[in-house]
Amino acid sequence: MAQATQSAVAELVCFEPSCRARYAITDVLYSCPKCGGLLEANYDGPAQDPEQLKRLFRERRMDNSPINQSGVWRYRELMPFLDDYKHVVTLREGNTPLLNAPSAAKYGGLDAVVFKHQGFNPTGSFKDNGMTAGASQAKRLGMTRVACVSTGNTSASMAAYAASAGMEPLIFLPNGKIAFSKLAQALEYGAKTLQVEANFDQILALIRVLAERLGIYLLNSMNPFRVEGQKAIMFEMLDQRDWKVPDWVVLPGGNLGNTSAFGKGLREAKALGLIDKLPRLAVIQAEHSAPFDEYWKRGGTGEFHAVTNPETLATAIRIGDPVSWPKALHEVRTTNGTVEKVTEQEIADAKAQIGLAGIGCEPASAATLAGIKKLVAQGVIDKGADVVAVLTGNVMKDPDYIYKYHTGQLEAPDGTKIRGTFANQALVVPNDADKIAELLKK
Ligand SMILES: *Cc1c(COP(=O)(O)O)cnc(C)c1O
Ligand SMILES: [Zn+2]
Repeated sequence: MAQATQSAVAELVCFEPSCRARYAITDVLYSCPKCGGLLEANYDGPAQDPEQLKRLFRERRMDNSPINQSGVWRYRELMPFLDDYKHVVTLREGNTPLLNAPSAAKYGGLDAVVFKHQGFNPTGSFKDNGMTAGASQAKRLGMTRVACVSTGNTSASMAAYAASAGMEPLIFLPNGKIAFSKLAQALEYGAKTLQVEANFDQILALIRVLAERLGIYLLNSMNPFRVEGQKAIMFEMLDQRDWKVPDWVVLPGGNLGNTSAFGKGLREAKALGLIDKLPRLAVIQAEHSAPFDEYWKRGGTGEFHAVTNPETLATAIRIGDPVSWPKALHEVRTTNGTVEKVTEQEIADAKAQIGLAGIGCEPASAATLAGIKKLVAQGVIDKGADVVAVLTGNVMKDPDYIYKYHTGQLEAPDGTKIRGTFANQALVVPNDADKIAELLKK
């Protein structure tokens, strides 16, 4: 087997162009102590031969060691922040398929579309790609407890990774709606779950105080190591396409961590010579949780306006004040990408179409196909373009939504009825072979 190349020097760097302060990779920081900006991992390493790296990544797929079976750590030369791989916490995340979906392509107005389905991950969402990296950093720092504020996939994923590594997972829930099946996962993985009488931002402030006092490591969206792991979604997609770069990568946008990760990963892959151009990123938000779309359409300058009461049935993207917008803006600009928003009805129908292709996904993921349909109609994406859409979560994450859509009971948060355009209802039939045969003839 080809040898891994020498290690790089890793550090944390402030993302703010006017600051750019640098910190040790082992400093426990979630934002820049000087200016409050976002942090990102930065590497200074020896030049690597891209062809040798590609061979190495491919050879590792045939290796049985946990680190090489992981669809994240297989690409570890591209995220070299650990000093020792004994710290790696893996549930064999990644390894998610690229799925062709001719019927969904037709619905979106494209000749072809490929779904990179992150719902095939161990806890059913792309959060696992990031959590393996965040949990490994926690291990490396000697942490025994990790925490996050989330009612969704982040909780489920963090709980699983912490439990598997023998760390205690602490989940803080804001009052209000709870994503039931995701909370159920967190409980099953043994997370200590605390419901606090406060909103998301208040709890975030609270746990930052607690984290310092009690030595708890935070695995929230601003944790820079989760972004490092999520870059591998793009590396794996490129590897699966023999490094052929698509024209577009379409993804849903909530806190915009994934957008930041994809852009960073793609830029770094290009700088290393693994690819020779960048795909364009198209970020799709839900209509009433779309502060990034609004900012983008205002030119991405001036003040960023958070949405005070974000609403959407696609709970994974119900985010009013996305933590990572400065990074995401940079990445969408760098890739000559775009931002769009879609309605609840458009999400629901696109989701049903993804289901009809035999694929299925959770509501937030379906914003991709709804966004594609809109962008093709606008002439932004060409009909013949090579498009990869990232499905972020598994179809079983939100069965309640599915049942309501197909039985005509789905309502948008403002009470508007959502049409079951592609509804598929169970039929009640008599215990009578003739009558059933008659029915099935039609
Ligand atoms: C977290 C999540 C999103 C949003 O991703 P961001 O990185 O916050 O933009 C979208 N879909 C699913 C299923 C998620 O779990
Ligand atoms: Zn700074």
